[in-house]
Amino acid sequence: MAYSEHVRIDLHIHSTASDGTLSPPEIISLAHSLNIGAIAITDHDTIDGSKEAFTLDIPPSLKLLTGVEISVSSNPSLFYTGSFHMLGYSIRLDDPVLNRTLDMLQEARRNRNPRIVNCLNNLGINLSLKDVADEFGEGQLGRPHIAQLMVKRGFVKSINEAFDKYLGTGRPAYIDKYRLDCGRAIEIILAAGGIPVLAHPFFLYIENKDRFEDFIVNLKELGLKGIEVYYSEHPPDLTAFYVEIANRYDLLITGGTDFHGSIKPDIKMGSGRGDLFVPYSLYENLVRFAHK
Ligand code: AMP
Ligand code: FE
Ligand code: FE
Ligand code: ZN
Repeated sequence: MAYSEHVRIDLHIHSTASDGTLSPPEIISLAHSLNIGAIAITDHDTIDGSKEAFTLDIPPSLKLLTGVEISVSSNPSLFYTGSFHMLGYSIRLDDPVLNRTLDMLQEARRNRNPRIVNCLNNLGINLSLKDVADEFGEGQLGRPHIAQLMVKRGFVKSINEAFDKYLGTGRPAYIDKYRLDCGRAIEIILAAGGIPVLAHPFFLYIENKDRFEDFIVNLKELGLKGIEVYYSEHPPDLTAFYVEIANRYDLLITGGTDFHGSIKPDIKMGSGRGDLFVPYSLYENLVRFAHK
């Protein structure tokens, strides 16, 4: 079989720059040891992980794409009930507008954390933001880090329980965060020379297939270039549907696991829940598109 069809890639990986538990050097060496052909570090609202990765010695058999995963919102004409994330690939890491925008999103996250901790304190869960920072360092902190500390301190048994009882949408310690408009995110990614790709469409929770198709048509008008079709949590029938939609609208197909290290222990780099295989040819298509 040709290299491009039998070698796997993973274009959705979180590092310690957001809520992953492996640093960029650890990600590179794990990817190499798993014989993965290409990866992208796609942290939530930050490119610090991608920036660090590009300063490292990378084995020639492992290709690295720049990446980011931006949490976005939309106007009510684009209806969904789940979470809406936009991936950006092959972006210029020194693009000033991209960097300024991500700094602003980081600031919004920093403002949100004390409010979450305050809610938890009022619910009798005594921990401080300093405790969280002491545990996880100075990188971007968010709900997953707070959840991990809650597990460690015995307030809950698992990260899932922390989200289900306290931190998840609509739960008593839930605080909404500022999100970039999806059209603006697409525009900023394009202006940074990048390729905007809709992340894990399954998590939008758009149940009606026609509605989903309309959603894609609208995003394509805004400049969307691809769909993350292959993903750890995508059921097979939906994967097939996403392939069909991507082909119908001439959108690139990408794939990745959403690897977070030990914070999501069921998801393995390169293979997700064990059966995910994203072929190298999809990386080649992305690169070919980026250089057009
Ligand atoms: P934040 O970035 O602070 O809004 O937190 C969102 C992140 O929390 C997501 O990207 C996931 O990585 C993680 N997350 C959300 N729900 C859960 C859950 N039920 N269990 C574990 N992690 C979760
Ligand atoms: Fe995450
Ligand atoms: Fe995501
Ligand atoms: Zn992700």
